[in-house]
Amino acid sequence: MQHNFIANQACLSHSRQTLAVLDPSDGQVFDELQRSTPQDIDDAVQAARACFEGPWSRLSAVDRSRLLMKLSQSVAAHADELAALEQRDCGKPTKQARADAMALARYFEFYAGACDKLHGETLPYLNGYSVLTWREPHGVTGHIVPWNYPMQIFGRCVGGALAAGNVCVVKPAEDACLSLLRVAQLAAEAGFPAGAINIVTGYGHEVGEALARHPGIDHISFTGSPKIGTLIQQVAAERHCPVTLELGGKSPQIIFADADLDAAIPVVINAIVQNSGQTCSAGSRVLIEQSIYEPLLHRLGQAFKALRAGPAAADLDLGPLIRATQLSRVQDFLSQAQRDGIAVVAQGEIAAGAPSGGFYQAPVLLRDVPVQHRLAQEEVFGPVLSAMAFDHEDHAVELANATAFGLVSGIWTRDGGRQFRMARRVRSGQVFINNYGAGGGVELPFGGVKSSGHGREKGFEALYGFTTLKTVAVRHD
Ligand code: NAD
Repeated sequence: MQHNFIANQACLSHSRQTLAVLDPSDGQVFDELQRSTPQDIDDAVQAARACFEGPWSRLSAVDRSRLLMKLSQSVAAHADELAALEQRDCGKPTKQARADAMALARYFEFYAGACDKLHGETLPYLNGYSVLTWREPHGVTGHIVPWNYPMQIFGRCVGGALAAGNVCVVKPAEDACLSLLRVAQLAAEAGFPAGAINIVTGYGHEVGEALARHPGIDHISFTGSPKIGTLIQQVAAERHCPVTLELGGKSPQIIFADADLDAAIPVVINAIVQNSGQTCSAGSRVLIEQSIYEPLLHRLGQAFKALRAGPAAADLDLGPLIRATQLSRVQDFLSQAQRDGIAVVAQGEIAAGAPSGGFYQAPVLLRDVPVQHRLAQEEVFGPVLSAMAFDHEDHAVELANATAFGLVSGIWTRDGGRQFRMARRVRSGQVFINNYGAGGGVELPFGGVKSSGHGREKGFEALYGFTTLKTVAVRHD
């Protein structure tokens, strides 16, 4: 049985109740989590506050840097163990689980290096004054983490928050806690003081909301659905608590006729197949210039047919989806496509012998999806790619921007002028030209516009969000 992790101690929840942990590859229960209560959140916030005002405040930036580097090294040394935990918990193919563990180590390494480079400025002002700014931590930060990339998202939000001098209370998703509970133990072993990193498991509506409402939380970072993101922002607004929201996307891959298609095709496929499409930055729409629409769809279709979903440990192209409700959500989208006459170009397979209790969805390529259709507007969060044709550059921009989201865009063209025109005109937080995702890019600021959220995580930029600026004016004549 798993425990909460508060003040460097494994704790039972006040409820004395547990939640079942399922293996998405076979649907079987294999562990239990604490079903925590608001009182557990309160314990964690109090532990975090005591740490922030006590041992944590006595650490210099260099001390924090060394602790984060030790944690990075420990995560790298335990990468196989962490990957195995997340693989079983979330159904990730081995390659993906291992990449996620190494990304976590890299986040801590990057933020270890950043701790002692975050500084304020001196400002020119009236004669007789000296004015400077300090970047101060918020204090106790709350992190509500989703189930799709627990380790990576923990690394980006907790790594940045700690580097900037905050302490953390984390509420992982109820489907994806095991790797994070282990990382918190590794942090304690690496020397993080009690209360610096606290983890409380349980349902979102029970403990996630209690975390967002808690008056002792000074900043909230949330990654998940737009619906819950809106709720978090409303709750936080009642006490003017700053919030960073990352709410997913409907990201376009825009392919012009002059693109290097041999380079584009595997990247476009990977961008929707990775993690079975359960990726906030999934390239879930492919916009193709009319003159190459049919031949490119044919090539993409051939590639889709070769894709196989199966048990995580089999390390195929795709693992299962996270849970039964996610599978039925994806299947609902596909049934609607069928009812509305949207044609399937091709689909992959579920591997023979995949356990019948697992949550498998073969990848599907759809064509001529109308721009206002749900499939072109909403996050499916499954391996479903919607193709549509465009006539010219303006039309491509119109389609690319025709959703409520704006997280990432991919642009494929050899025309240098068009690369920059398109990059300026698409509305998204990141733009990739002749590549997509840049292999993760811990260093690259990430976040959205419009309903994709606000604030930036990753890179150095995240540290500005995890701090508040104090201006100090000294009059000395
Ligand atoms: P969700 O938004 O419900 O869950 C994300 C996190 O929020 C989890 O930790 C959850 O426990 C917590 N949460 C849930 N209700 C809460 C509440 N009332 N108060 C505070 N915290 C709460 O997402 P989901 O239901 O797991 O997935 C639904 C859809 O959301 C997916 O199909 C996908 O489209 C989207 N999603 C996006 C991302 C992303 O990375 N942007 C991640 C997960 C899900």
